[in-house]
Amino acid sequence: MHILHHPVEFAQHCNSIRALAQAVTFVPTMGALHRGHAELIGQACARGRCMVSIFVNPTQFNSIQDLQRYPTTLDADRSLCERLGVDAIFTPDAEALYPFPSPGHVSVTGLDSLWEGAHRPGHFQGVTTVLAKLFHLVGPCTAFFGRKDFQQWRVVQRMVDEFFFPVALEAVPCVRDLDGLALSSRNHRLTERNRQQAQAIPRALGAVAQAYTLGERRADELRRTLSSTLEGSGLSVEYAALVDPATLVPAQSQVDQPVALVAATAGSVRLIDNCWLGVDDASGLVTLATGH
Ligand code: AMP
Repeated sequence: MHILHHPVEFAQHCNSIRALAQAVTFVPTMGALHRGHAELIGQACARGRCMVSIFVNPTQFNSIQDLQRYPTTLDADRSLCERLGVDAIFTPDAEALYPFPSPGHVSVTGLDSLWEGAHRPGHFQGVTTVLAKLFHLVGPCTAFFGRKDFQQWRVVQRMVDEFFFPVALEAVPCVRDLDGLALSSRNHRLTERNRQQAQAIPRALGAVAQAYTLGERRADELRRTLSSTLEGSGLSVEYAALVDPATLVPAQSQVDQPVALVAATAGSVRLIDNCWLGVDDASGLVTLATGH
């Protein structure tokens, strides 16, 4: 497995693979890899020579504390990638990816100002800027994203479509822990009490998925189920919404395969999760909702 630090060296490596008429696949990450990332990487390895970037991108953080607290587990990440059959890891310094003192940026309008965009101003601009850089370095490829970050996937797809990046996106369903909680690099900061509070999120998503499966299509009713399950959980809820999967605007009256989105804080840990009703396999969630 190659470990590459310099952007040019990384671009050359990807080009040399395509010169052999082999497919390049790409999984961008911020490291502290867990089973969710492993799922993406496993699928990417099965589809071509897999590149994994590990870069804690400063421009997508809203607070310096959040950036400083972000975990790094490079040795473990490296072993996991090696076991999964990754071809190369790209771990640049911040100066290598942002060589100029007042950096330029890439942004897409519309989708990036809703939900996460509204609660974390500038977040998606940071994400699209770093991904534009990484996509230029990797070149034509298939890139794998997690549906855990549903809005991010949509924003990145918009960027790819709008700016004609030669990148095909694959969106991989969310990987969860046994208690239903979506795996996240931030979960290790949850105290036992916070973790119990956080379980209200998969419980609420499970309740709404179950109602949808049983035939409920009224947006207001589904929204009420989502919110009422979160009430009294001790979580500080930023939003609990039912949205159209393409435009991310709130779903109106009767819905067909909407997405339930939740952002909430447990203790000092901010968590996001979602369920695409009628599309996601909600068994991990519904089990909780029915108490089995
Ligand atoms: P991050 O390292 O948090 O930037 O995430 C890198 C990629 O892994 C993103 O495409 C995430 O959506 C994806 N990812 C993170 N957690 C999960 C999860 N629990 N299930 C599936 N994909 C995930």
